[in-house]
Amino acid sequence: MEKRFVYADNAATTALSESVLNAMMPYLTEQYGNASGVYSIGRRARRAVETAREKTALALGCNPSEIFFTSGGTESDNWAIQGAFRAFGSAEKNHIITTAIEHHAVLRTCEELEKQGAVITYIKPDRNGVVSPDEIEKAVTDKTILVSVMYANNETGVIQPVSETGCLCRRRGVLFHTDAVQAAPHITIDAGSLNADFISVSAHKMHGPKGIGALYIRDGIKLPPLMFGGGQEKGKRPGTENTAAAVGFGQAMSDIFPGLEKRNSHLVQMRKRLAEGLERTGRVTVNGDMSRALPGHLNVSVKNADGEALLLMLDLKGICASAGSACTSGDSAPSHVLTAMGLTPQEALSSVRFSLDSSITAEDVDYIINIFSEVLKKV
Ligand code: PLP
Repeated sequence: MEKRFVYADNAATTALSESVLNAMMPYLTEQYGNASGVYSIGRRARRAVETAREKTALALGCNPSEIFFTSGGTESDNWAIQGAFRAFGSAEKNHIITTAIEHHAVLRTCEELEKQGAVITYIKPDRNGVVSPDEIEKAVTDKTILVSVMYANNETGVIQPVSETGCLCRRRGVLFHTDAVQAAPHITIDAGSLNADFISVSAHKMHGPKGIGALYIRDGIKLPPLMFGGGQEKGKRPGTENTAAAVGFGQAMSDIFPGLEKRNSHLVQMRKRLAEGLERTGRVTVNGDMSRALPGHLNVSVKNADGEALLLMLDLKGICASAGSACTSGDSAPSHVLTAMGLTPQEALSSVRFSLDSSITAEDVDYIINIFSEVLKKV
C-alpha cells in the first residue's frame, strides 16, 4: 500500500487556509502599522482589526462591542473564570460549577481558584459523555457565581445541552460561560439564544492562525482584566493588537458559514465510514454518543492496546491522530474525560482520537482503516 499523509488531528489544530493566509499577508508585510497609531498605516490597521471584530461578532450572533481579542482559548477561559470570581466573588458568593470533562484551561483555572477560597463543583457526565442540565441545576446554591460548561468536548466531540444550561443559569441569576473552542468551527453559535455571558473561541481550530482567540463578554458585564498595561481592547486586554492574526481570525470566522452544512454532512459520512471500518477489527469501541457529537470527531478504545504506542505506529505510516487530548500528549495519565464517563483507566489509556476536516477523502479513510488493522495485529 502506497504511503500517504493523512492528518486526522484537527481537534488539536488545523492547517491555515489559503483565504486566511491571503487575508493576513498584507498585515504581515507592508501594512505593519500599530493599530493605535494616528498615521495612515496605523489607521488602516485599526480598520482591519475592527472589521475582524465585526466578522467575529457576526459569527457569534453578538455586537462587535462584546468581542475581545485574546491569545486563544486558554486565555479566554482563564479570563472568564478568574475575572468572574474576582469581580463577583465574596465570602457569601464563592461557588463555581463546572464539569469533570472540561479542557485543562478550565479545570486548572478552577483548581487555582480553589486555593483562593473558591468552592468548585465538578459535575460528571453520563456514560455517553453528556452532562445533564438537571445535575447542574441541582448543584446551584445561593453562593453560586458562575457555571462553566463546554459547548462540545475536545476528546469525544460530544455536544453538551448548553442552551438548556444557559437558560437555567439566566433563570437562577447565575453567570454562564461556555468554552466553544471545538464547537465554533462546526456549529452556528448564537450568543443571545444561548443565554451565555461569556463564550471562548480560538482561531487555530478553524483554519485560522495560532495565538489568537476571543472572549465574548455580554454587554453590561464588568469583567476585570487579567493583565494590566496599555488601553487596547477598551483597557480590558492590554498589548499591541496582533493585526494580522486578528484579520486571519475574522476571515476564518466568516469562512465557516458558506458550505457549512455540506462540509458537516461530508464529515459525518467519513466518520461513519471510519467507525465502521475500525469496528470491523472487532477490537474497537466508540466512546461518546456519536448521534450528538461534532461531525469529524471519533474517539475509540482499542482492546489490549496502548493508545500512545498505536499513535507512534500510525505516525510511521503518515497518519496523525492523538491519544486523549493534545494538551496531555507525552503524559500517559488516562484521560480525565474518558474516566469521568466511566471507562476504566485501561480503556482510557487505549483510546485514540481521530478528528477529521473537510479535506478528508474516502481513500484517506480507507487508508487509516487498513493501516490501523495492520498495526493492531502487531500490538
Ligand atoms: N478549550 C478547548 C475545548 C480546547 O480543545 C482547547 C485546545 O485544545 C482549548 C480550550 C485551548 O485553546 P488554545 O489552544 O487556543 O489556547
